[in-house]
Amino acid sequence: MALLSVENLSAYYRTEIYGISRTVRAVDGVSFELKPNEIYGVAGESSCGKTTLIKVISGNLKPPLKVNSGSVSYHFGIHAVDMLHISQEELRRDLRWKEISYVMQGSMSVLNPVRKIIRTFEDIVDTHEGIPDKKRFFEQVREHVNRLGLPSEVLTSYPHQLSGGMRQRVAIALATVFHPRLIIADEPTTALDVVVQRGVLQMIKDIQAMSNNTVLLVTHDMAVHANVADRVMIMYAGRIAEEAPTEIIFNAPLHPYTQHLIHSLPMIGERSNKVSLRGAPPNLANPPTGCRFHERCPYVMDICRTEVPELVTVQDGHRVACHLVKENPL
Ligand code: SF4
Repeated sequence: MALLSVENLSAYYRTEIYGISRTVRAVDGVSFELKPNEIYGVAGESSCGKTTLIKVISGNLKPPLKVNSGSVSYHFGIHAVDMLHISQEELRRDLRWKEISYVMQGSMSVLNPVRKIIRTFEDIVDTHEGIPDKKRFFEQVREHVNRLGLPSEVLTSYPHQLSGGMRQRVAIALATVFHPRLIIADEPTTALDVVVQRGVLQMIKDIQAMSNNTVLLVTHDMAVHANVADRVMIMYAGRIAEEAPTEIIFNAPLHPYTQHLIHSLPMIGERSNKVSLRGAPPNLANPPTGCRFHERCPYVMDICRTEVPELVTVQDGHRVACHLVKENPL
C-alpha cells in the first residue's frame, strides 16, 4: 500500500487587493503516490509548484493558499489520515516530527542561534514526547548523532560555531530523531558547495537505508536526483509533465521539457554549446490553454494549444503528459 496518495490535487493562491481578485494556479490536477522505503524526487524550475505541493502534503496550508479540489491521504500502518481535514492540533500532536518531518533549505531556521544544539533537541523532544529521564535522553541523542556520523561535540556547540554543511547535517539529525516514516527534504543542499553537498546527500541516503523510511526530495538540481532518487517526478507550471524511475528519466525521457532538462546538464569533456529554451515559464495567474509548455516547446502542434494533454502510463511506472507521446506510443 502507498504511504501517501495524492489524487487530482489543485491548490491555488487566491488574493484580493483593492477589489481585484487574483488566482494563481500553483498546483493543478496533480496525482501521484509515495511508496514505503523509497527516495522520490520532485524536480522542475522555480515557480513550477514544487514548494506549494509540499506545503499541502505536509499540512502547512495558510491563506492565501487554498486547496481547490482533490485529496491527500497517508497510510501509517493501519491508520489512514486525511491530510486536508485533519485539525492543526492532531497534526502537531500525532504527525509532525513523529511521522512526517521536514528538512528545509536554511538550517538556521530550525536551529535556535542562542541555544546549544542539544537544547534544540531537548525542546523538540520535550514538546512532542516529554523527557522523563534526562540522563537517558542525552545518551540517546548522542547515540543518534553518532550513528549518523556526527561527532558528539556538535551537541554542545552553538549553531554559529558549525559550518553550513554541519548545520544542515544537524538539521537532518533533528528531523530524524523520532524516526519518521516520511522525511520531506526541500532543497536540502542548495547553497552548499559541491563537496559538502555530497556529504549531506550521502547522509540522506544512509538514513533512508537504515530506517527504510520514505524521503520526498524536492530540488531543481537534476544532478542531485540522478545521485539519490529512486523515482523522479518532473513538474512544469503546476502540473506533472513526466514521472518515471530515475534511470528512465535520465536515459529515455519522453516529455520535451524533461529532455531539455537532461540535455542541458553539463557532461565531462563535452564542448558543444547548450541551447536554452525560448521564452520563460508561464504566469500561473493566467496560464496558457492546452499544454502549459506549448509556448516553449520545439515540437508544438495545433492540438497542444487547445487541449490539455492527459497524463498517460506508457509503461510500468512511467507516466507522461504530452500529445506527441500519446500519438506515438512506445
Ligand atoms: Fe510539446 Fe505538445 Fe507535448 Fe506539450 S503536448 S510538450 S506542446 S508536444
